[in-house]
Order: sequence, then structure tokens, then C-alpha cells
Amino acid sequence: MRLILLGPPGAGKGTQASGIINKYDIPHISTGDIFRKNIKEGTDLGKKAKEYMDKGLLVPDELVVDLVADRLTEDDTKKGFLLDGFPRTVAQANALDDELNKLGWSLDNVINIIVSKDDLIERAVGRRICKDCGATYHIKFNPSTIPGKCDVCDGELYQRDDDTKETVAKRIEVYENQTSPLIEYYDDKNILLNIDGAQDIDKVFNDVVVALRSNN
Ligand code: ADP
Ligand code: AMP
Repeated sequence: MRLILLGPPGAGKGTQASGIINKYDIPHISTGDIFRKNIKEGTDLGKKAKEYMDKGLLVPDELVVDLVADRLTEDDTKKGFLLDGFPRTVAQANALDDELNKLGWSLDNVINIIVSKDDLIERAVGRRICKDCGATYHIKFNPSTIPGKCDVCDGELYQRDDDTKETVAKRIEVYENQTSPLIEYYDDKNILLNIDGAQDIDKVFNDVVVALRSNN
């Protein structure tokens, strides 16, 4: 299965990704996670990306496209992949099409998670992430058993630097201007699956599985 998760910041892409990659046994490729790993490791790419991420802006296409193209040539993608947070611009989508053509692959589906703007801000601001294993929680909607500790690995939970109310609002604006045109882009290719993301996490996952089953 070759899939993309599309949706505004805080829609629940990362949360749904963990269930999807388990069920379909495919690797999770999150460009946001790759940038955060680079920031943590202090690489040049991390330093460059951080300047944009802290402002809620997109990292320039030229820093993202090659990174994903390289990642797609790794062995584990032969069984498929789930792209999360990529593509985010029409230029990135075109570059992905070119790359997939080169590899002789095509996309199966684009899962578009729909959530209202007010919910997005509440979700993103309350998001907490495990610094060791990356598991995602929410202080109200999906809390860990012990506050501040990861249920999976006991790691410490932290709040992303870009999950402040102001930066989230900027990221949503950037999504509307630069990323939302991809809804039409993939709808025109007849591979878009619209999912109501304003439901419980399990219900959203169930809808994703049902939609994938009836389209493949
Ligand atoms: P994205 O990857 O799209 O930015 P996340 O998966 O990280 O979004 O989810 C953002 C926040 O919202 C997290 O704190 C997560 O626990 C919470 N969340 C995800 N899905 C739901 C849902 N269906 N209902 C309530 N909260 C959710
Ligand atoms: P995410 O983890 O998907 O919410 O992404 C966090 C931030 O990383 C975004 O606000 C962007 O600054 C940057 N980013 C992640 N993926 C991309 C992408 N495909 N193109 C440009 N910037 C990206």
C-alpha cells in the first residue's frame, strides 16, 4: 500500500499513522519527524529547517524533496509507505509524481483528515510527545496514565516548540494557502479519501480502514 496522509496541523495524521503502519506493515515517513530528529542531532539540515519551523512556515521545497526521494529508495519502501506531512505544496506533489514514475510506482490513496479550525488549535496546543519513542498524547483527549510520562517507554513527554497558539494559527494559515490545493490535486486523480477527523481516535481509524478496504 502506498499512501499519503493529508490534513491541517493537529488533524491527527501522526496519531492515525501509528495504527495504519501497524495494520498494513508499511514504514511511516514523516518529514516533520525527520526535521525534528535533525534538529535534535544539530545537523546543518536541522539548523536550516528550524528557522522556518519556529515561525510556522514551510521549509523550502528544495530541502524537502531530495530528502524524501532518498528515503523512498531505502529497502523497506518496497512493501509500500505512508507519507505523513509530505507533500505540502503543489511543487512537492509534482516532484513526488516524478520520483514515483522513476521508480515505476503509483499512489494507492491519499487520506484527507478533515477537522475544524477551532479543534485544530486545541489539539495542537495540548499535544505532548515522548522524547524517546515519539508517541503522541493529548493532555485532555488522549492523556498518558502518569502525567508527563510515556505509557509505552516511560520516557519524558514534551511540548513541541511550534505548538504555541500563535504558531499553530500561522501553520493553519500556511496550510490553507499552500497545502490545501493538494485536495483538488489528488481528487482529480481519483485517489482522495475524505475522512471525518472530528470523531474519537478509534472511530477515525475505523473509517480509514473501511475507506481503504472499499477502494482497494
Ligand atoms: P498531526 O500529525 O496531524 O499534526 P497529531 O496526530 O499529532 O496531528 O494530533 C494532534 C493532537 O490531537 C495530539 O495531541 C493527538 O493526541 C490529538 N488527537 C489526534 N486525533 C484526535 C482525535 N480524533 N480526537 C481528539 N484528539 C486527537
Ligand atoms: P509536522 O510535524 O508535519 O507538523 O511539521 C512540522 C513543521 O516541519 C512544519 O510546520 C514545517 O515547518 C516543516 N515541514 C514538515 N514537512 C514539511 C514539508 N513537506 N514541506 C515543508 N516543510 C515541512
